[in-house]
Amino acid sequence: MTMEAGRDIMHFRNTCSHCCNDVEIPILSDFAYGEILFQSADARSFAIVDLINNSVFDEVLQALEKRAISESVRAEIAQPMLCDLSDEINGQPYSTIYPRCPLCGQKMSFWSDEHRVGMRHLPAPQWSGFTENSPERRMVILDSLIAKHTS
Ligand SMILES: [Zn+2]
Repeated sequence: MTMEAGRDIMHFRNTCSHCCNDVEIPILSDFAYGEILFQSADARSFAIVDLINNSVFDEVLQALEKRAISESVRAEIAQPMLCDLSDEINGQPYSTIYPRCPLCGQKMSFWSDEHRVGMRHLPAPQWSGFTENSPERRMVILDSLIAKHTS
């Protein structure tokens, strides 16, 4: 099985308004259509997510369609569901709360793409913990996530 290995993403220097440290965070350009960033719960790791060539995201969208979830709710919960299904990175689950300061973990109130620091490689999330399940079991997992995100 070939897994998408991630890609180089431009990082930018920003000052955290909580801990006042200068930190480097990846920011996607406006032209990065069909891609989003995930950040680990401890805020130290980032990953680049391809939403277009992504069989797990397709499965999430199909499950939402099958359960007749409205289009606006679908748009709201599909990415958080994909995030929940991701394998942990460095022992941490991913979160869609972005960006958070990699040093203190607080949600950054202000950030900009003024100060480029360079391209850094980001991995792609993996979904082996989900995909190794049977189709029936995957549907059960997806249903429980739909319930979690719509309650
Ligand atoms: Zn901070």
